Amino acid sequence: MADDLARRLRDDPEFARFQTMYLDGGIDGIALVAADSDPCPTCLGLTDRSYIPSGLPRLPIAGCSAPGGCRCRYEPNVTVYE
Ligand SMILES: [Zn+2]
Repeated sequence: MADDLARRLRDDPEFARFQTMYLDGGIDGIALVAADSDPCPTCLGLTDRSYIPSGLPRLPIAGCSAPGGCRCRYEPNVTVYE
């Protein structure tokens, strides 16, 4: 699991950036957002919630059955200080 995280940090620059931002406290987490208004059931179950980097599902979502392929994306949740 730790090996997998290390490999992912190395192979996925966007993910590495999220991890850095998260550790720096710049973001609370990363939301998984469906690009389509009618996502497939697999994506529907995973989107619209926030993940910490180590728990973030990889894109494209495994098992996504959208006809045009998975179009989900990440959206960092920025911490708002009042
Ligand atoms: Zn998808």
